[in-house]
Amino acid sequence: MMIEDIKKVGVIGAGTMGSGIAQVFSTSGYEVILVDINEAILNNALDGIKKSLGKLVEKQKITEDAKEKALALITPTTDITKASDCQVVVEAVLEKIELKHEVFKKLCQQSPPSTILASNTSTISITEIASATKRADRVIGMHFMNPVPIMQLVEVVKGLQTSEETTQLIVELAKKLGKTPVVVNDSPGFVSNRILLPMINEAIYVLQEGIADKEAIDTVMKLGMNHPMGPLALADLIGLDICLDILNVLYRDLGDPKYRPCPLLKRMVAAGYLGRKTKKGFYTY
Ligand code: NAD
Repeated sequence: MMIEDIKKVGVIGAGTMGSGIAQVFSTSGYEVILVDINEAILNNALDGIKKSLGKLVEKQKITEDAKEKALALITPTTDITKASDCQVVVEAVLEKIELKHEVFKKLCQQSPPSTILASNTSTISITEIASATKRADRVIGMHFMNPVPIMQLVEVVKGLQTSEETTQLIVELAKKLGKTPVVVNDSPGFVSNRILLPMINEAIYVLQEGIADKEAIDTVMKLGMNHPMGPLALADLIGLDICLDILNVLYRDLGDPKYRPCPLLKRMVAAGYLGRKTKKGFYTY
C-alpha cells in the first residue's frame, strides 16, 4: 500500500482521544468512520468536534467551509463492520488489554489483509496487542497526545513484529495530518510516559517529604527548566488515577523500584482526588 491509497480511516472509540483523532483526520481530508458503543457517546463526540472546529474558525485557522467539509467526512456508527473497508484503523477504546484484544481480533477478521491496525494506547505493549491478530507486521502504535488537534507529536511505536513498510506508512500518514512523528520501539511507557511519569512521581515524593510546597515545586520546573506547566499541575491535568495506572505498569513491567508509585499519589487516588476532573487534586479547581 502507498500513502495515496489511504483515503478512509476507521477510529474505534469516540472518547477524549478518539474524537480528537477523528477531527484531525477529517480536517486533513480523510473520510472517517467513527465507532463507539452507543449513540449518546457518538453525539457527544460530534458536538465536541463541532465546538473544536468552531474555535479554529474563530481563530481564523480554518474557514467555515473547511469546517463543514471536515464534519461531512465523519460517519458516526455503532457498527464496527462499517470500518471494514478502511485502509487504516486507529483504535482508541479504554485502556484495557482484554478489550483491545477483542477489538483487534474483530478488526483483523473483518478487514482486508492490507489494512493497517494502529493503537493509541499509552502503556499497553503493541506486541501484545498484535498477538490477538494474524497480521502482527501490520499492527503499530500511533500514540497521539491530548488534546489531539493541538499537540504536535505522534509517537509511532514499533512492535517486535511491525514491518518497516507499516512504520514508514504511518510516519507518512502522521505527517499528512500536520504532526511530527517520532519512531520508538515497543517498551513499557514507550518514550513519552517512561520519562514523564517518573518526573511527576519524583515531584510528588518531593512534596510528600516536605522539601517544598506544591507552588514552589511547580515554579522551579516552570521557570528553571522552561516547562510550560509544573509537574503537579500537569498530574492534575492528566488525572491522578491515570498517572497511578501508568506508574503501576512501569513498576510491574520493568521491575525496577525506581518506578514505585509515591504513597501520597496512592492516597490521593484512594480519596477520590483525581485532579481537574474531580475539581480537586494537588490544586483545587
Ligand atoms: P475515553 O474513556 O475518553 O474514551 C474511550 C471510548 O472507548 C469511550 O467512549 C468508550 O465508550 C469507547 N469504547 C469502549 N468499548 C468500545 C468498543 N468495544 N468499541 C468501540 N468503542 C468502545 O478514553 P481516552 O482518554 O480517549 O483514551 C483512549 C485510549 O487512548 C486509551 O488507550 C488511552 O490509554 C489512550 N490515550 C489517552 C490519552 C489521554 O490523555 N486521555 C493520551 C494518549 C493516549
